[in-house]
Amino acid sequence: MKYCSECAAAVSLKVPDGDDRPRYVCDHCEIIHYQNPRVVVGCLPTVGDKVLLCRRAIEPRLGFWTIPAGFMENGETMLAGALRETREEADAKVKNESLYRLFDIPHINQVYVFFRGELDGDFGIGPESLESRLFSEDEIPWSELAFPVVTDILVDYFDDRRRNDYPIRLGKPGPLWAEHVNWNFDHS
Ligand code: ZN
Repeated sequence: MKYCSECAAAVSLKVPDGDDRPRYVCDHCEIIHYQNPRVVVGCLPTVGDKVLLCRRAIEPRLGFWTIPAGFMENGETMLAGALRETREEADAKVKNESLYRLFDIPHINQVYVFFRGELDGDFGIGPESLESRLFSEDEIPWSELAFPVVTDILVDYFDDRRRNDYPIRLGKPGPLWAEHVNWNFDHS
Protein backbone atom coordinates (compact mmCIF):
# COMPACT_ATOMS: atom_id res chain seq x y z
CA MET A 1 0.00 0.00 0.00
CA LYS A 2 1.39 3.41 -0.97
CA TYR A 3 -1.47 5.89 -0.65
CA CYS A 4 -4.30 6.42 1.79
CA SER A 5 -7.67 5.28 0.46
CA GLU A 6 -9.36 8.02 2.53
CA CYS A 7 -7.35 11.09 1.55
CA ALA A 8 -4.80 9.94 -1.08
CA ALA A 9 -1.79 11.08 0.95
CA ALA A 10 1.23 8.80 1.35
CA VAL A 11 1.15 6.09 4.00
CA SER A 12 3.97 4.83 6.21
CA LEU A 13 4.47 1.40 7.68
CA LYS A 14 4.76 1.78 11.45
CA VAL A 15 3.58 0.26 14.71
CA PRO A 16 0.68 2.38 16.03
CA ASP A 17 0.57 3.25 19.74
CA GLY A 18 -0.79 0.33 21.70
CA ASP A 19 -0.39 -2.09 18.79
CA ASP A 20 2.17 -4.87 18.42
CA ARG A 21 2.79 -5.03 14.67
CA PRO A 22 3.42 -2.66 11.74
CA ARG A 23 0.39 -1.15 9.95
CA TYR A 24 0.00 1.24 7.07
CA VAL A 25 -0.77 4.59 8.70
CA CYS A 26 -1.70 7.68 6.72
CA ASP A 27 0.89 10.47 7.06
CA HIS A 28 -1.86 13.06 6.66
CA CYS A 29 -5.18 11.91 8.19
CA GLU A 30 -3.50 9.31 10.45
CA ILE A 31 -6.08 6.64 9.70
CA ILE A 32 -4.74 3.11 10.31
CA HIS A 33 -5.30 0.76 7.35
CA TYR A 34 -5.67 -2.69 8.90
CA GLN A 35 -5.08 -5.62 6.59
CA ASN A 36 -6.52 -9.01 7.43
CA PRO A 37 -6.74 -12.43 5.80
CA ARG A 38 -9.11 -13.00 2.91
CA VAL A 39 -11.59 -15.85 2.86
CA VAL A 40 -11.90 -18.20 -0.11
CA VAL A 41 -15.09 -20.27 -0.22
CA GLY A 42 -15.81 -23.27 -2.41
CA CYS A 43 -17.90 -26.36 -2.86
CA LEU A 44 -17.15 -29.87 -4.10
CA PRO A 45 -20.21 -31.05 -6.10
CA THR A 46 -20.60 -34.83 -5.97
CA VAL A 47 -22.85 -37.32 -7.74
CA GLY A 48 -22.59 -41.04 -7.03
CA ASP A 49 -18.91 -41.93 -7.07
CA LYS A 50 -17.99 -38.85 -9.09
CA VAL A 51 -16.99 -35.26 -8.42
CA LEU A 52 -17.46 -32.19 -10.60
CA LEU A 53 -14.30 -30.28 -11.52
CA CYS A 54 -13.75 -27.23 -13.74
CA ARG A 55 -10.80 -26.43 -15.98
CA ARG A 56 -9.65 -22.89 -15.36
CA ALA A 57 -10.03 -20.31 -18.13
CA ILE A 58 -8.12 -17.68 -16.14
CA GLU A 59 -4.73 -17.26 -14.53
CA PRO A 60 -3.28 -18.37 -12.24
CA ARG A 61 -3.12 -21.99 -13.35
CA LEU A 62 -5.04 -21.52 -16.59
CA GLY A 63 -5.94 -24.89 -18.10
CA PHE A 64 -5.67 -26.80 -14.80
CA TRP A 65 -8.55 -28.47 -12.99
CA THR A 66 -10.09 -27.09 -9.84
CA ILE A 67 -13.02 -27.27 -7.46
CA PRO A 68 -15.40 -24.27 -7.79
CA ALA A 69 -14.12 -21.65 -5.33
CA GLY A 70 -13.35 -17.97 -5.03
CA PHE A 71 -13.15 -14.97 -2.76
CA MET A 72 -16.08 -14.43 -0.45
CA GLU A 73 -18.02 -11.21 -1.10
CA ASN A 74 -19.07 -8.69 1.53
CA GLY A 75 -22.60 -9.28 2.75
CA GLU A 76 -22.79 -12.99 2.03
CA THR A 77 -22.46 -16.07 4.22
CA MET A 78 -19.75 -18.67 3.66
CA LEU A 79 -22.28 -21.13 2.26
CA ALA A 80 -23.90 -18.54 0.00
CA GLY A 81 -20.46 -17.66 -1.36
CA ALA A 82 -19.61 -21.30 -2.01
CA LEU A 83 -22.90 -21.85 -3.83
CA ARG A 84 -22.42 -18.67 -5.84
CA GLU A 85 -18.96 -19.79 -6.96
CA THR A 86 -20.40 -23.17 -7.93
CA ARG A 87 -23.00 -21.44 -10.09
CA GLU A 88 -20.45 -19.06 -11.60
CA GLU A 89 -17.78 -21.63 -12.43
CA ALA A 90 -19.76 -24.78 -13.17
CA ASP A 91 -23.26 -23.45 -13.82
CA ALA A 92 -24.31 -25.97 -11.18
CA LYS A 93 -26.48 -26.16 -8.08
CA VAL A 94 -25.93 -28.48 -5.11
CA LYS A 95 -28.20 -29.76 -2.35
CA ASN A 96 -27.62 -31.36 1.08
CA GLU A 97 -24.43 -29.35 1.44
CA SER A 98 -22.13 -29.80 4.46
CA LEU A 99 -19.09 -27.97 5.75
CA TYR A 100 -16.13 -30.17 4.83
CA ARG A 101 -12.60 -28.74 4.79
CA LEU A 102 -10.91 -25.71 6.33
CA PHE A 103 -7.40 -24.57 5.45
CA ASP A 104 -5.08 -22.01 7.02
CA ILE A 105 -2.71 -20.56 4.45
CA PRO A 106 -0.89 -17.93 6.49
CA HIS A 107 1.95 -17.30 4.05
CA ILE A 108 -0.54 -15.82 1.56
CA ASN A 109 -2.93 -14.47 4.23
CA GLN A 110 -5.88 -16.60 3.20
CA VAL A 111 -8.39 -18.88 4.86
CA TYR A 112 -10.19 -21.49 2.75
CA VAL A 113 -13.63 -22.85 3.60
CA PHE A 114 -14.92 -25.75 1.51
CA PHE A 115 -18.32 -27.39 1.53
CA ARG A 116 -19.38 -30.55 -0.25
CA GLY A 117 -22.84 -31.18 -1.67
CA GLU A 118 -24.81 -33.32 -4.07
CA LEU A 119 -25.05 -32.00 -7.59
CA ASP A 120 -28.64 -30.90 -8.12
CA GLY A 121 -29.57 -31.19 -11.79
CA ASP A 122 -27.42 -30.32 -14.73
CA PHE A 123 -24.13 -28.48 -14.93
CA GLY A 124 -22.43 -26.33 -17.54
CA ILE A 125 -19.44 -24.09 -18.09
CA GLY A 126 -19.14 -20.73 -16.39
CA PRO A 127 -17.21 -17.76 -17.82
CA GLU A 128 -14.12 -18.54 -15.71
CA SER A 129 -13.98 -22.15 -16.93
CA LEU A 130 -12.93 -23.83 -20.18
CA GLU A 131 -14.68 -27.08 -19.38
CA SER A 132 -16.59 -28.86 -16.59
CA ARG A 133 -16.57 -32.61 -16.12
CA LEU A 134 -17.50 -35.37 -13.73
CA PHE A 135 -14.59 -37.56 -12.63
CA SER A 136 -14.51 -40.85 -10.76
CA GLU A 137 -11.48 -41.44 -8.55
CA ASP A 138 -9.51 -43.31 -11.21
CA GLU A 139 -10.20 -40.57 -13.76
CA ILE A 140 -8.90 -37.64 -11.68
CA PRO A 141 -6.11 -35.81 -13.58
CA TRP A 142 -3.83 -35.72 -10.53
CA SER A 143 -0.94 -34.03 -12.33
CA GLU A 144 -3.23 -31.35 -13.76
CA LEU A 145 -4.89 -30.07 -10.61
CA ALA A 146 -4.68 -26.33 -10.11
CA PHE A 147 -3.89 -25.95 -6.41
CA PRO A 148 -2.65 -27.96 -3.41
CA VAL A 149 -6.02 -27.70 -1.67
CA VAL A 150 -7.71 -29.40 -4.63
CA THR A 151 -5.41 -32.42 -4.29
CA ASP A 152 -5.95 -32.58 -0.53
CA ILE A 153 -9.71 -32.37 -0.77
CA LEU A 154 -10.01 -34.97 -3.53
CA VAL A 155 -7.70 -37.50 -1.83
CA ASP A 156 -9.62 -37.14 1.42
CA TYR A 157 -13.01 -37.14 -0.26
CA PHE A 158 -12.54 -40.51 -1.93
CA ASP A 159 -11.11 -41.98 1.31
CA ASP A 160 -14.04 -40.58 3.28
CA ARG A 161 -16.48 -41.94 0.74
CA ARG A 162 -15.09 -45.46 1.16
CA ARG A 163 -15.64 -45.19 4.92
CA ASN A 164 -18.89 -43.25 4.54
CA ASP A 165 -17.59 -40.81 7.14
CA TYR A 166 -16.89 -37.17 6.27
CA PRO A 167 -15.27 -35.41 9.23
CA ILE A 168 -14.61 -31.67 9.08
CA ARG A 169 -10.85 -31.21 8.96
CA LEU A 170 -8.67 -28.17 9.55
CA GLY A 171 -5.26 -28.22 7.96
CA LYS A 172 -2.56 -26.68 5.85
CA PRO A 173 -2.45 -27.84 2.24
CA GLY A 174 0.68 -29.21 0.69
CA PRO A 175 2.16 -32.65 1.29
CA LEU A 176 -0.22 -34.64 -0.91
CA TRP A 177 0.11 -32.11 -3.69
CA ALA A 178 3.89 -32.46 -3.74
CA GLU A 179 3.54 -36.16 -4.49
CA HIS A 180 1.57 -35.41 -7.64
CA VAL A 181 2.86 -32.17 -9.09
CA ASN A 182 6.31 -30.75 -9.48
CA TRP A 183 5.42 -27.10 -9.06
CA ASN A 184 6.51 -24.57 -6.50
CA PHE A 185 3.37 -22.96 -5.11
CA ASP A 186 4.52 -19.57 -3.91
CA HIS A 187 2.30 -16.49 -4.05
CA SER A 188 4.09 -14.64 -1.28
ZN1 ZN B 1 -5.29 9.66 4.83
